[in-house]
Amino acid sequence: MSGARGSGADRSEPDGVRRLGIMGGTFDPIHLGHLVTAEQVRADLDLDEIVFVPAGNPWQKTREVTSAEDRYLMVVLATAPNRCFSVSRMEIDATGPTYTVDTLRQLRAALPDVALFFITGADAILSILTWRDAEECLALATFVAATRPGHDLSALQSTGLVERVQRVDVPALAISSTDVRQRFAAGRPVTYLIPQPVEEYVGKHGLYGTPASDLGVDSRLHGGHERA
Ligand code: ATP
Ligand code: MG
Repeated sequence: MSGARGSGADRSEPDGVRRLGIMGGTFDPIHLGHLVTAEQVRADLDLDEIVFVPAGNPWQKTREVTSAEDRYLMVVLATAPNRCFSVSRMEIDATGPTYTVDTLRQLRAALPDVALFFITGADAILSILTWRDAEECLALATFVAATRPGHDLSALQSTGLVERVQRVDVPALAISSTDVRQRFAAGRPVTYLIPQPVEEYVGKHGLYGTPASDLGVDSRLHGGHERA
């Protein structure tokens, strides 16, 4: 429950300091692996809130990514029932590429008295901390590495960052957005891998190669640039 203090976490901040988790990702689409990870980290580290930050449309496309608006709305649908979860448009509305360090700088400036925790899975931690402005990122937030099936956290050892990253063990869910997209395209089941409203949204809007069932009126009313 929001505001309730669990017993497991070692809190280094004085009481009363809000603790905010930040869950970044492409979320194309959001799945139960993301939600279980966020909830487990929230409970283990005694966080007050988790804000999901869907990435904007990538500038260098390695594949066709679903429009930011669709990905954002699916994250809203998936997180709505959890009172401790919220969704930020900050990366979606940004012009130009956004990097983790930009997001953390903005959050730090807007929330100077909040303790920030940046949550990543075992695969993403390495790419973030071995890329851009790692030192500044680590100074702006506590980095949390969640276990993820198929990705070995011991690789962090060789980077010298292992002591500076908080590990959280998450129930192993071998779910990825890549696999979910492939399942949709092949007509294979996705039920119990993604929240039901997200499954319905995908079907309604014909994402991931599913046949569209909506009339397309809303996108025409919005000038057609709501969705790619
Ligand atoms: P894709 O296959 O398109 O890369 P993905 O499933 O990896 O999708 P992302 O949006 O890339 O999802 O991931 C967002 C964050 O969630 C990353 O930090 C990633 O490591 C983490 N994550 C994703 N799935 C899991 C999972 N099953 N368990 C733990 N962490 C996960
Ligand atoms: Mg990924």
